[in-house]
Amino acid sequence: MEEVLIREVGLRDGLQLVKKILPTEKKIEWLNMQAFLNFKEIEVTSFVPEKIVPQFFDSEEILQAAKSISGLTSSVLVPNFFGAKKAFELQAEKINCVISASESHNKANINKDIKSSITELSEIVSYNKSLENRSKIGVAISTSFGCSIEGEVSNQKVLHLVEKIIEIGVDEITIADTVGYANPKQVKILFNSLIRLVGNLDIFAHFHDTRGLGMANVLTAFDLGIRKFDSSLLGLGGCPFAPGASGNVATEDIIYLFNSMKISTGIDLKDLIILCKNIGKFFKSEALSGKILSAGIPKNFN
Ligand code: ZN
Repeated sequence: MEEVLIREVGLRDGLQLVKKILPTEKKIEWLNMQAFLNFKEIEVTSFVPEKIVPQFFDSEEILQAAKSISGLTSSVLVPNFFGAKKAFELQAEKINCVISASESHNKANINKDIKSSITELSEIVSYNKSLENRSKIGVAISTSFGCSIEGEVSNQKVLHLVEKIIEIGVDEITIADTVGYANPKQVKILFNSLIRLVGNLDIFAHFHDTRGLGMANVLTAFDLGIRKFDSSLLGLGGCPFAPGASGNVATEDIIYLFNSMKISTGIDLKDLIILCKNIGKFFKSEALSGKILSAGIPKNFN
């Protein structure tokens, strides 16, 4: 049976757009419940300064809670060396750095030009190599399919950035459609080139359903051989520094997609829907984009 890995990013990407601060114990409850449902990898928080995204005031506590869950790979997002150092101190298993393919988005998101971000990434990787207990380092390339500030982002830009990142030496890359601009044809062209370029390096695909093409893009990437996908419970999320961004691909929808095609996710959809209803109570005022939760599981769905 074919298998896919669904990495939950709701506690990071999802929560960064939610104004209401979710209490720490609720975040930990969510984390535990989702790990209990057999989610093998969860991006649990972000080490951005609290004054920029107050939601992540408790990032250290959340990471500690995640680390105590056996069998779970937890990752944290870091915007810079300062955040990475904090994550190293706490011996985070995986650290995801972020660089944008669009110069304007990189500036808006982490207040640096791309060149400085690349230099900082190589400092993070070198620092990691000097440690006795190393973390895995991933890089998410934001706005890989277009940017809501500067518009078109060429494949050449993305591929060039990936080449530099490979030279630095990281453990995985995530190709992110941060603002939901991608279409399946674009996904096919970019991922075909990427797969040839990266060799054995792990690729995660991170799509947003902002314009309704999220699932079509997931399926296109799957058909090209991608087996690792990000998604966010209830379709929460988006980038606070990208105008118009909203709606990650919803976890319950992506699980439905793969389960219905008999591609193993390791997750039971009925249990997941119970979790969604439970977590959904915290987000009554948010616009949720998931479909399967409102439509219900089809009759006799197995
Ligand atoms: Zn996202």
